[in-house]
Amino acid sequence: MSPNIESIRRSDELQEKTTQYLQFKSNIHQKIMNSEDEYTKRKQRLLDYFNGTEDDWENWHWQMKNRIQDVATLSLFVDLSTTDYNEIARVVKHNRFAIVPYYVAIASRDIHHPVNMLSIPRVAEIVDTTGYDDPMAEEFTNPAGSITRRYPDRLIINVTNICAMYCRHCQRRRLIGESDHHTPVEIINESIEFIRNHPEIRDVLLTGGDALLLSDHQLESILQQLRAIPHVEIIRIGSRTPVTMPMRITPELVQMIKQYHPVYLNTHYNHPYELTTRSMKACEVLANHGIVVGNQAVLLRGINDDPYIMTYLNQRLLQARVRPYYLFHAKSVKGTSHFIPSLSRGLEIMDFMRGFTSGLAIPTYIMNAPGGLGKVPLLPQYIVNKSKNTYTIRTWEDKTFEYADSEY
Ligand code: SF4
Repeated sequence: MSPNIESIRRSDELQEKTTQYLQFKSNIHQKIMNSEDEYTKRKQRLLDYFNGTEDDWENWHWQMKNRIQDVATLSLFVDLSTTDYNEIARVVKHNRFAIVPYYVAIASRDIHHPVNMLSIPRVAEIVDTTGYDDPMAEEFTNPAGSITRRYPDRLIINVTNICAMYCRHCQRRRLIGESDHHTPVEIINESIEFIRNHPEIRDVLLTGGDALLLSDHQLESILQQLRAIPHVEIIRIGSRTPVTMPMRITPELVQMIKQYHPVYLNTHYNHPYELTTRSMKACEVLANHGIVVGNQAVLLRGINDDPYIMTYLNQRLLQARVRPYYLFHAKSVKGTSHFIPSLSRGLEIMDFMRGFTSGLAIPTYIMNAPGGLGKVPLLPQYIVNKSKNTYTIRTWEDKTFEYADSEY
């Protein structure tokens, strides 16, 4: 059957819509390829500095032991003006700062590189102190142990406050505190006991901090106890390590986790530069062991609040077998206001992606309601008018049609 003229015309019209994006995609792809070369050189410099070997680099304990936590060491790997240097030194007196060598290696010497902007403190954190320490009132959603409960059938157990890298936009900054510590075992046990006594809880999320900063043994003890509770249907793990320290995804870890399926893992990529070959390998290992990985990005001003960057990030996540799950509108957390984009920008990005790319590549745009009231999905307006029983509905190309509703 030969295609008709109308189909060919429509196909050409659709192709035309992708021209600019394809140009962008080819440019950013090239930059990512260049950063892979840069990564190899920066990695060697970091290994030389810390007197480490290739084996050390792949050892997550070595990565954690050598986190960069002071501006003097940082300045050896990132170009800092005197003002930058002094400002960072001021900020780190107030706000926690640590970056594993791997995450330093995937950036560049330019302080404005997106990976640096996500990880290096800037003076705006202490100059603009608008916002709240606890905008979701988590303090009032803790019925036992280290639980956070905001919904009827699911809850969080906060298992640690440690992360491989302290994200500058962290939405749970309040929990990070001044020093690293895992939640004491008796508090975790109290949390598990609460779940045992609440048959309505079918979904448990282990997070913190970063849940994969627990040792395999500590994590297994929690998974084992949860799996023994008949009403716990699924277990989720919140971890940014596939992004910030992919060497944490060891064969031993995934072999252990797979015994407690169904286990899901939610991670947190914000920019395509974070999807390095090494990081994608970690996602592949997780997927190969049946651990379904979802991504929860945060929309951040000057980093990913761009329709093309967001589209590319989500398309690349799918290539890494990671499902784009949520895109959060940044909460009003003290010290992070400089990252918050406008809501209209977020809606514009969502509007762009719909139709332009696969539905599978589109996360749900979420605002966390203040006071612990839960997540609210945000969508561009598609119902543009309603009169009696007729809706006027808009398509992704801004064409409209009428829909006559049925009467019940
Ligand atoms: S990994 Fe998550 S909890 Fe840790 S600093 Fe980053 S955003 Fe915060």
